[in-house]
Amino acid sequence: MSKGKCFLTGMVIYVFIFLAGCGIEDGTASLESNGVVDSDGFPVVAVDGGVYFFGDYVYYFDEKTETAALLCNKPNCKHPPMLGGVCNAFLHAAGETYIYEGNIYVPVSEDEGYVLYRVSPDGSGFDPFLTLAQTNEEGLSHLGSCGSNGYYYFALTAFVTELGQLKEDEVFDIYRVEMKENAQPEFLCTMSIERGGLFFMEPSVNGVWVYVYYDDVESKIYFLEEGSQTLQQLFADQIFFEFFNETACYYGTKEGEFYKYEDGEKRVVIEKEEKLENSTSELVYDGKIYISTKEAIEIYTEDGEFINTLSYGTVGAEWDLNDPEHHFQRYLVGVTDGGLYLFYNEWWEGGNQCIYYMPLEEALSGNGEAWQEALSGFMYP
Ligand SMILES: [Zn+2]
Repeated sequence: MSKGKCFLTGMVIYVFIFLAGCGIEDGTASLESNGVVDSDGFPVVAVDGGVYFFGDYVYYFDEKTETAALLCNKPNCKHPPMLGGVCNAFLHAAGETYIYEGNIYVPVSEDEGYVLYRVSPDGSGFDPFLTLAQTNEEGLSHLGSCGSNGYYYFALTAFVTELGQLKEDEVFDIYRVEMKENAQPEFLCTMSIERGGLFFMEPSVNGVWVYVYYDDVESKIYFLEEGSQTLQQLFADQIFFEFFNETACYYGTKEGEFYKYEDGEKRVVIEKEEKLENSTSELVYDGKIYISTKEAIEIYTEDGEFINTLSYGTVGAEWDLNDPEHHFQRYLVGVTDGGLYLFYNEWWEGGNQCIYYMPLEEALSGNGEAWQEALSGFMYP
């Protein structure tokens, strides 16, 4: 998570594009998790052969054909974005998605509370699986949720005031629920966050990483071990970015130091790297670290050895990075065995939002010319 991306949280993504719907053919997607995604406000799921995007509608991008389609196989469905509810692809994620035993699970806000839905990869729709909360008087924290080891972890907070403003100080109640029908959520612990700090959870092999980000004071990284009801504080530092995989936690400080923590040991990965201060998103997958900065994507080995600087090519190239009238962002939202996914967002009225894709081989050695449009036309209200 990096500064300046937080505004995506909780926002509704409207997709104003018209694509043919489809089901994913048998064998196209095995629904084994097969990649890593930056899900800070962007529900994306990487599977074998492609990526699912959860906006107000669910799309699947097939890496073999390099095309995207709505996840709907309903005969004669017109897939109309304006007539929500009638299309099988209409499902708005209220929190992080989770791949478990061959299915995708996604939390949805309903009048009666929050429900974890099971998504059919063939485009035939969604089924309610588990109730996370019986009421939605409390909000589900979008960032503070994840699946890990057969449990779905989530956090509830009374985060909206009567005026609809975000509260400065929040208390999150952290729960987990076993991925079994009729399972009841189990309360684990409480997390207090002051002065508008950001809070989220990421899966680990034996629990979850919990992270609280503050702009002005020390940010904190915790670990919540599976079965434990106590948050164990690992670090408090001037953290500028952080990311996790199942066994390790990585973080960079505002001074440009870059650390890795694994098996109880912390060590320096990269020392005083000025480029990292411009980081907008960070991912680690399959032995490689990918760091989006304002200017390019820096690729390293897990031990910090430089592999490639990948430019954004023509994506956003017509705009001046320092022009406040035309503020835009480019950052990685996913890395899979197949390739890289770049989110491009123009923040002015009528600006474009688009996902670009690049095959992995090109990314590791190329110069950025191979970015191609995967999905376009997102709009934030
Ligand atoms: Zn449809």
